[in-house]
Amino acid sequence: MIISMRKHASKEEIDHVCERIREFGFKVHSIVGDERVVIGAVGVGDVTPCLEMLEAAPGVESAVRISAPYKFVSREFQAERTRIRVNGAEVGGDDFIVMAGPCSVESEKQIMETAEAVAAVGAKILRGGAFKPRTSPYEFQGLELEGLKLLAKARAATGLSVVTEVLSERDVEMVAEYANIMQVGARNMQNYALLKALGKCQRPVLLKRGMSSTLKELLMSAEYLVAHGNPSIMLCERGIRTFETATRNTCDITAVSVLNELTHLPVILDPSHATGKRSLVPALARAGVAIGADGLIVEVHPCPEKAFSDGAQSLTLDMFRAMMRDLKPYMQLWKESRVAVAAAV
Ligand code: PEP
Ligand code: MN
Repeated sequence: MIISMRKHASKEEIDHVCERIREFGFKVHSIVGDERVVIGAVGVGDVTPCLEMLEAAPGVESAVRISAPYKFVSREFQAERTRIRVNGAEVGGDDFIVMAGPCSVESEKQIMETAEAVAAVGAKILRGGAFKPRTSPYEFQGLELEGLKLLAKARAATGLSVVTEVLSERDVEMVAEYANIMQVGARNMQNYALLKALGKCQRPVLLKRGMSSTLKELLMSAEYLVAHGNPSIMLCERGIRTFETATRNTCDITAVSVLNELTHLPVILDPSHATGKRSLVPALARAGVAIGADGLIVEVHPCPEKAFSDGAQSLTLDMFRAMMRDLKPYMQLWKESRVAVAAAV
């Protein structure tokens, strides 16, 4: 059940509701918003008597039964889309958002050149890994703190915001000092210690789908973040493991539509990791716009053949410029349909 307290309900009323819910045997999670407190009640058993009690309790505006196991992130809980402000940009709002940059931050020259190029053609958020999760321990692991500092420098020079991966709960504070958005990589989608730590962090999270995870599991991981205090989440489809070997992963493009039905959270498509091959990225990016994703995260490198990681799927700066040009009319249609849908609701 989700219980919305009235605007400015008193502390006594909130405490009383929580206490009564516990008496019915449910666990209570409260989220304190700017205007109101929302209480999630979770547990097993028939909720009907508890719902009846809540309807009569002082300070309660509404109490609804949520059938999905992910409560706070479900569309049942919140019909309107979540909009997440990141500096001047809004993810989940009226503009299609492009995040772009190298897989790894490698040097000042590389990140500056990339940041300036992507900003010039409309990207709003700079990506770049400072902590890299690599399959082999002998591969480049990232510049770590130095990489974070370079990202901050690129932000200062271009006005772009920064999204970068955090690999461990130990690094949350350090990464949050430099990043605007904290990326949870596919390999860490079910790292619950990390999710709990990010719940307490004030920064929005880009939560990537695990390569063998179902959408329900993705939403349950998002629910962890909300249950621990952080409702600002962007979900990311980045391809999943299948029997197909022609591409690095198989893009589950329908995931975008499924997520749009199941959750109010914004959905970002990563056509780079989904394909593993730069020639396939622009077409999949177009599909992402057409299917109604809220944005893209794309790997771009000034010289992909020299990239320390994921060179094969990284666009050159010229290819990125061409892709952005090609996407323009699609983004315009996207905007018109987003505004029309909002007006119809
Ligand atoms: C990345 O964004 O470079 C990355 C490692 O992505 P994923 O976690 O989706 O593999
Ligand atoms: Mn990568």
